[in-house]
Amino acid sequence: MKLLQQTILEKGTVLPNGVLKVNTFLNHQIDTGLMIEIGKEFAERFTDSNINKVITIESSGIAPSFFAAHTLDVPLIFARKKKSLTLKDNVYTSQVFSFTKQETSEITVAKEFLAENDRVLIIDDFLANGQAAQGLIDVVKQAGASVAGIGIVIEKTFQPGRQILEDKGYRVESLARVQSLQDGQITFLQEQIS
Ligand code: 5GP
Repeated sequence: MKLLQQTILEKGTVLPNGVLKVNTFLNHQIDTGLMIEIGKEFAERFTDSNINKVITIESSGIAPSFFAAHTLDVPLIFARKKKSLTLKDNVYTSQVFSFTKQETSEITVAKEFLAENDRVLIIDDFLANGQAAQGLIDVVKQAGASVAGIGIVIEKTFQPGRQILEDKGYRVESLARVQSLQDGQITFLQEQIS
């Protein structure tokens, strides 16, 4: 997605250990116009997948998935990362190791929001080692629902996330595929540049 690539090049900064900082438009301040375009693009790519729910993880997954769910005219659910007194019973949980925080946290989704016959689109802001996506897959499977696909805003192709997910048979659609962050330079996979 050209607009996303341009925004990443203009506003993204490279941190040590293969981390891309995008706090000016995605992870802290949010470019709402860009989020709408991202949402439309996800909806278009998965339009024929019979999706009836979108699921993401708080907080950074919410903005890019909101307009996808809206365009597909389906509910958006976000898995909670923080423990809550209002979300203790009748929940699905899964452990997720965070690449950026280097710690494991538990994600929680109330059972009432996922049903056996659901076809769920998973959306997240980044794909690195695939841990967040696998946590969401786990939750969807606990409900007996099926994963219709995985939509990612920024994939880092130098990390194994896509391979792990594709090996398990999941369709992965990334809107920007970052091939390298070496020497502070952001480069995209060739196929995306045209
Ligand atoms: P994974 O679970 O695939 O290893 O990593 C994806 C999760 O880690 C995303 O939800 C995102 O919050 C975070 N993440 C991974 N890599 C990056 C990165 O380079 N930059 C930012 N801002 N977040 C990242």
